[in-house]
Amino acid sequence: MIYLDNAATTMRKPSGVTRAVRDASRDFGGPGRGSHAAAMRAADAMYACREAACELFGIQTPESVILTMNATHALNIAIKSLARPGKKVLVSGFEHNAVMRPLRALEAKGVKHETLDTPLFDPGKTYTAFENALTGDVCLVVCTHVSNVFGYILPIEKIAGLCRSKGIPLVIDAAQSAGVLPVKENHLRGAVLCMPGHKALYGPQGTGLLIVPENIRLTSLTEGGTGSNSLSLDMPPDMPDALEAGTPNAWGAAGLYEGMKFVMDAGTEEIARRERGLLSLCAGYLYDMSGVRCMYAPDCQTGVISMVFDNNDAEDVASGLNEKGIAVRAGLQCAPVAHKTAGTLPYGTLRASFSYFTTPGEIKKFAEALKGILR
Ligand code: PMP
Repeated sequence: MIYLDNAATTMRKPSGVTRAVRDASRDFGGPGRGSHAAAMRAADAMYACREAACELFGIQTPESVILTMNATHALNIAIKSLARPGKKVLVSGFEHNAVMRPLRALEAKGVKHETLDTPLFDPGKTYTAFENALTGDVCLVVCTHVSNVFGYILPIEKIAGLCRSKGIPLVIDAAQSAGVLPVKENHLRGAVLCMPGHKALYGPQGTGLLIVPENIRLTSLTEGGTGSNSLSLDMPPDMPDALEAGTPNAWGAAGLYEGMKFVMDAGTEEIARRERGLLSLCAGYLYDMSGVRCMYAPDCQTGVISMVFDNNDAEDVASGLNEKGIAVRAGLQCAPVAHKTAGTLPYGTLRASFSYFTTPGEIKKFAEALKGILR
């Protein structure tokens, strides 16, 4: 199969990831639950995963790295902890439903939100929109680093600086940037980072990370056992236990550790360079094809490209590609807000998204198959 749906999840994982999950499934007890060897092996894997995240994202304290089920879980903890009734949350025009649905649910608690006018592939106007909207009644800014539909890289470092200067907390959805672009604490100082482990960090499904700056306190969505402070009926105040109720996914953490090591060995710059090469190759093929229009802006785009067709439905084209063994994603990609911003509602786009393992030959075969279908 030619797998071009890496923005949903990376399917091909480094061999170390698969091996680590298999070994963990054989060797791990409950992390933090007892001091026997099997429990300690799992606890060590959890800690090693936190330490690898520190190295990759330039963080000092492993305890500030929370292991979550996915990016959605991390975003829910962050948003629901920091949003305030009667106040407003600002978001970009490219947010995923992992941001928009929690905000919708919070409307019932009196939290308002405003989706800003942040035009596609226009970092200048995107920044200005945040600058103009950051007024006194804003309690939180939530912003995606990279659009999962268009690969658009938002000016997140400048937005982080703006939020810092105004003392307003910022939650960054790094679902499409972690492992692909430099996501460094020193550039994004003070921001809460939310990301999946299963996309460009090459970890297993069921993993995500929430990275919490020292001066920010978040509240767990769930309460339960942590293996610590068992006499108390309150959740322990200390991180990471304060936000990790119940037996965590230590098998996943062992795999995610290997995924992050892979990313660090390859280097995010090299990964970005490869993906950019694939992007321009793909855009070149699409430009030469009639009946298709792709959204391409190489100065501010990762290896994610969306396209629309003059005479074909994106869903039909995706099924045609599937019949030829090529996996892409068509429709709204869980981000109707992004499509509204880009003017691609109600049908959405066909999206191809690359990973470190995607080859130029696969892009060529994708283009040939697409041409055949459009003809
Ligand atoms: N935000 C963005 C930008 C995404 O692309 C995704 C996944 N498509 C998510 C959040 C949610 O990630 P997860 O499925 O890991 O919860």
